[in-house]
Amino acid sequence: MYDVNSKCADDFINHEEILETLAYADENKENVALIDAIIEKAKKRKGLSHREASVLLACPIEEKNQEIYKLAEQIKKDFYGNRIVMFAPLYLSNYCVNGCTYCPYHAKNKHIPRKQLSQEDIRREVIALQDMGHKRLALEAGEDPVRNTMDYYLKSIETIYSIKHKNGAIRRVNINMAATTVDNYRLLKEAGIGTYILFQETYHKESYLELHPTGPKHDYNYHTEAMDRAMEGGIDDVGLGVLFGLDKYRYEFAGLLMHAEHLEAAFGVGPHTISVPRLKHADDINPDDFNNGIDDDTFAKIVACIRIAVPYTGMIISTRENQKTRERVLHLGISQISGGSRTSVGGYCEPEPDDAKSEQFDVSDTRTLDEVVRWLMEMEYIPSFCTACYREGRTGDRFMSLCKSGQIQNCCHPNALMTLKEYLMDYASLETKAIGDKLIEKEVLNVPNEKARAVVLENLRLIEHDNRRDFRF
Ligand code: SF4
Ligand code: SF4
Repeated sequence: MYDVNSKCADDFINHEEILETLAYADENKENVALIDAIIEKAKKRKGLSHREASVLLACPIEEKNQEIYKLAEQIKKDFYGNRIVMFAPLYLSNYCVNGCTYCPYHAKNKHIPRKQLSQEDIRREVIALQDMGHKRLALEAGEDPVRNTMDYYLKSIETIYSIKHKNGAIRRVNINMAATTVDNYRLLKEAGIGTYILFQETYHKESYLELHPTGPKHDYNYHTEAMDRAMEGGIDDVGLGVLFGLDKYRYEFAGLLMHAEHLEAAFGVGPHTISVPRLKHADDINPDDFNNGIDDDTFAKIVACIRIAVPYTGMIISTRENQKTRERVLHLGISQISGGSRTSVGGYCEPEPDDAKSEQFDVSDTRTLDEVVRWLMEMEYIPSFCTACYREGRTGDRFMSLCKSGQIQNCCHPNALMTLKEYLMDYASLETKAIGDKLIEKEVLNVPNEKARAVVLENLRLIEHDNRRDFRF
């Protein structure tokens, strides 16, 4: 039975509830009075239920869809301004004992080169990432209890935080790793991780079991209840995501929002981020083998509907998507993007030879970080390298209450400008720096509080002339 508060995955992601939600959405997808009422509710910026949001997602009426897009853009502007937070993935290991049918790291793939970074390799990768200008990483690894042990993760996190190369530093390490125990989540928290990310892949249990035929990940309930254990272990920033293309997108969308509602109901804190990856080509994986691929228009609609359903949750898009798609969804709700990414193990130091690629998926946006930063600024976005909240202890419900009240904006905007200035001073090309300096000059006037503006101006001066770094609100 559906129970948002239950600790059992079958209850909080209840199959019958999702089917009823989809039937309700089908019945009402052209019910203009209801759609108008839902849009009006969404305008209050308190979010929508999975049923309400599912009606909007199903709605085929062009005029209403335009209203949905417009509202998503407005909510994006109100909550996130024109800032986009930058990050990069760092692949630690592609050893994996699972049998996921959509990922080239599955255990039966015998020809992909298997690698695990040593602490020395990690040092080199992190220095390469720092030299690009990155401050925020998302660690990635397959599940291998023998090789990718908890000790290995903890040591790797310690190594990453310890490296200070020139003016570089990794200030926030997020981690995407297999479902584990409360005790292990506690250890990750103590090691200073930012967000714990675990993609559900699909919320459809039957499909999930087929797509994960072997390995510990086959246990749907253990996987789906991972965020509950993470929160019990003290991690209060968790990141959800589904891999669009595995099952029907409307089912996944409802499941994703039910998961968010469950975390909010059970722990008082919704997800910190939601990622929206789409299935892509990779070594021995052909996306055409899966029947549920979604086109760009549907993808944009999903992003817009998530944006208005959970306005205070960050949304992430990776380099799986090309420049054009990224540009479109940035307007509709994405708040974090990766740039200059390598999805192979050890890919930042040395490009891999063509006949020995260890990538998890093909990168569609292959531009350098400098090019991505310049592109964002040419569209009047402020690329932000901010990591302040987690370092100031603004996590979990503390973060969410600041977010919901809109007060977080007073921190985000100045921090974006100061961290962008650091990037421009230390890593940008001359052309990017010229565009960035102009943007900062203009945007500093948008810091509303006079005192705060004076502090930002002084800090910008210190960054430029005194080589000072790491200012934050
Ligand atoms: S998706 Fe993760 S768990 Fe599955 S095969 Fe790939 S690396 Fe392993
Ligand atoms: S101030 Fe906090 S919410 Fe804003 S960009 Fe920085 S880390 Fe993110």
